[in-house]
Amino acid sequence: MKITILIPFYNEEEMIVKTHNTLTKELDKLKDYQFELLYINDGSSDRTLEHMRSIAQNDLRVKYISFSRNFGKESGMLAGFEHATGEAVIIMDGDLQNPPRLIKEMLDKFQEGYDIVNAKRTRRGEKRSTNLFAGLFYRVANDLMEVQLTDGVSDFRLLSRKAIEAITSLQEYNRFSKGLFSWIGFKSTVIEYDNELREAGQTKWSFKKSLNYALDGILSFSNQPLRMIFALGLVCIAIALLYVLWLFISYIISPATAVSGYFTTIFTVVLFGGVQLVSIGVLGEYIGKIFYEVKGRPHYIIEESNIEVDD
Ligand code: UDP
Ligand code: MG
Repeated sequence: MKITILIPFYNEEEMIVKTHNTLTKELDKLKDYQFELLYINDGSSDRTLEHMRSIAQNDLRVKYISFSRNFGKESGMLAGFEHATGEAVIIMDGDLQNPPRLIKEMLDKFQEGYDIVNAKRTRRGEKRSTNLFAGLFYRVANDLMEVQLTDGVSDFRLLSRKAIEAITSLQEYNRFSKGLFSWIGFKSTVIEYDNELREAGQTKWSFKKSLNYALDGILSFSNQPLRMIFALGLVCIAIALLYVLWLFISYIISPATAVSGYFTTIFTVVLFGGVQLVSIGVLGEYIGKIFYEVKGRPHYIIEESNIEVDD
């Protein structure tokens, strides 16, 4: 049975050779399977592609696809799914943070009949602030979204051919794969492992990037924010009506103080101005998403590969 190992690489010149060697050592132990190694170069600006070429020359199991620029990990994964030929695809990171020793356990679960096997990591050794924000994101996201996400489930997972077909049939431009994997359904299970720290190179996630990712995720899987601004609008109208009523009553009771209230006027103008701007912003976010969807651009452009690709 053929299994595809899919790895997206972006500026991993310090790790790619080591990752490949560690991985193949582990795969050689699994005699029952035949492996295809599908490496994606996501427009690296360092020497990742050169390393990839020479790895592919020395190991015939290695197929690689190189993008014309950095399209992001989501696009890398999609390209991998579209070109994988195995009965199942195991997707992992190129920095050995997803220990290859788990592959055996994943394949065992696959044999038991699971279509999706997620690897869940502990958050050992990560920055406190990262954990705090990640925790908050999962709380908010799960409240708002129509799909459920689990904290710590990374992109390290096995997908059966059926699941791959389902994922590639979703051609939306804004891909939030954590949500997509859950959205397609199928029988899935989780295995756990201890978080590994990155050995070399740098994480590609800055705080800003993570925040944008979290927002994208919530916006692509939920229309709750639109509902919330609607509700907020109603609350504001109710408050305003009560306020007017109160002014009217106080005018009846003591007409002499009627002209005062400069502060409250400014306050309400600013308050409602803010509410309106936030609401327009939320609408704008959704319109922005629609804008990208209707253009229907491809998710990636392939510049070079050692397999037949039609782009
Ligand atoms: N990656 C990618 N394209 C990008 C960013 C990252 O293909 O634009 C790859 C990266 O090379 C690595 C994996 O995605 O193999 C995970 O990235 P990273 O280790 O930076 O993320 P972290 O583990 O810190 O969440
Ligand atoms: Mg990493």
